Amino acid sequence: MSSSDKKKEPRQVIFNMDKEKNFPDWFGEIVKVAELADIRYGVKGFTPYPPWSFMTMDIMFKFLDDAFRKRDHLPMLFPTVIPEKNLTREADHVEGFTPQVFWIKDIGAGEELEERLALRPTSETAIYPMYSLWIRSWRDLPLKRYQRCSVFRSEIKSTRPFLRGREFLWIESHNVFATHEEALGQVQEDLEITREVVTEHYGLPVMVFRRTQWDKFPGGLNTYAADTLMPDGKVIQLPSTHDLGDNFAKAFDITFLNENNETVHAWQTCYGPAVSRIFGALISVHGDDKGLRLPFKLSPYQVVVVPIIRGKNANEVMEYCKKIESTLVKAGFRVFLDASDNTPGWKYNYWEMKGVPIRVEAGPRDLKDEKVVLFRRDTMKRESTELKGLKQKIAALGKEIDKKLRTLAEAKFEGLIVDADSLGEIEDALDKGKIARIPFCTTEMEGEECADVIKERTGGEVRGTRTDVKDIPEGVCPICGKVAQEVTYIARSY
Ligand SMILES: [Zn+2]
Repeated sequence: MSSSDKKKEPRQVIFNMDKEKNFPDWFGEIVKVAELADIRYGVKGFTPYPPWSFMTMDIMFKFLDDAFRKRDHLPMLFPTVIPEKNLTREADHVEGFTPQVFWIKDIGAGEELEERLALRPTSETAIYPMYSLWIRSWRDLPLKRYQRCSVFRSEIKSTRPFLRGREFLWIESHNVFATHEEALGQVQEDLEITREVVTEHYGLPVMVFRRTQWDKFPGGLNTYAADTLMPDGKVIQLPSTHDLGDNFAKAFDITFLNENNETVHAWQTCYGPAVSRIFGALISVHGDDKGLRLPFKLSPYQVVVVPIIRGKNANEVMEYCKKIESTLVKAGFRVFLDASDNTPGWKYNYWEMKGVPIRVEAGPRDLKDEKVVLFRRDTMKRESTELKGLKQKIAALGKEIDKKLRTLAEAKFEGLIVDADSLGEIEDALDKGKIARIPFCTTEMEGEECADVIKERTGGEVRGTRTDVKDIPEGVCPICGKVAQEVTYIARSY
C-alpha cells in the first residue's frame, strides 16, 4: 500500500447523527460525508467545494441573479485586487476592514510592488473610483449593478467551512442614486429580494433588523440585515444591505450634474448576499439525522432513478428506467439515473444522505404494471404510483416537499422570542436556545457600553431593532436603568 492509499478512508454512505443534540459535530460530519467541502486543503479558512455543494450554490446564485435582473440591476465584474490608496480613501471603512485584509506585497522572486494590493474584502473601494468616472449627469442615474465573485477576509475567530471562511462566494450589488430617498427605496427593494429568495426559494425564515450604530457597515449610515436561527440556538446573519448615505460619494468624488446643471454628490447603497454562508445555514436548517434534505428547487438532482435489477430482467428494467429518465429530463427536471454497480440499498442510503428530494425506484414488477415507486426524502415515505402522469406527480410532490421544509423551519422560529428585563432572564433565555427581547436604552453609539455588559455576562449580542415588526418600547434599559428608547433582541450568534 502506498502512503497516499493510507490517507484514503473508505467512503461512508449511511449517515446517522442526532442533529439537535450535537449540532457542531453533525455539521462537521455532514460536510465531510456528503462531500461538500474538504478541510484538508492546507490553508486555514480556505476549502475546495466539490460538485455537490458547488452545483447547489450555483442554483442558489441563479435565483439571486433572476431577482436582480428583473429589478433592472445589470451584472459586471471587477478585478480581485484593490490598490492600497483606494482602500484607504474612506476613513471608517479602512478602519473597519484593514485588520481583515490579505495583502499582496511582491511578485516573482521577491520583487516588491510599488504599491501594495489588497485582495478585495468587499468591493466598494474597487468599484467607486470607476463610478466616479462613469457617472456624469442625472441621466446616468439610477445606476444599479452587481457582481458575483469571491471575497477574502482573514477572520480572527476560528474558521468553519461555509459558515466562517476566509474566502467566501457572494453577490455584491452597488447602486447609485440622485437622492437619499431613492437610496432608501433601494434598501427596501434589497429586503424584498431577501424575502423572495431566502425565504420563498430557499425556505429559510428570517427576522430583519436595523443593526446598532456600533455594528453597522464601516463607512455607511445604517445596516439592515436578515438573521436566521441555527439548530444550536445561535443566529446567523444572512444578506445585509447598507445605506451608505453620501459618505462614499464624498470620499470617492462620485458627483453628477443635476437637472439644474449643478454638480452634486450622489447617494449610494450596497447589498451582499453571501451564498456560501447561506448554503451553510440552508443545510443546517433543513438537514436531519439522516443527512442533507435539499429543497426541490435547489437540489442539483431533483430526482434520482434507481433500477431494481434482479436476474434476467436486467436489460428491460434498465430500458424502463432510461425511458423514465428521458421523460423527466424533457419535462425540465434535473434527473440522475444511478446505473452504477452498487446495490439498490447502497444507492438508497447514499442519495438519502446527499439530500435528493425524490427517488424513483423501478423493478421487474413495476415494469410489468407500468408503475414506479416514489420516495420522498423529507418524510422518508414511499408509495407506488402509475407511470402515466409521473411528470405532474413529481412537480406537485416537489412543491409539497419545499413547503414542508419551509413549514418545519418556520415552526422552529415561532415561540423563539422570550421577553426579558434583567441579565439573569437574558442569560436564561439564551441558555434555552432562545432570543431575548428587551427594552434598551439606545442603539445609537451611547448604547454600546450596555451592549458590552450584556455580551460579557451572557455571551449574547444586540442584534438591533426589528424593521419587519412594530415594537413599542416600555420600561427601562436593564443595564443602565435609563428610559428605553428602543426594543432590541439579544442572541448568541455566528
Ligand atoms: Zn442601557
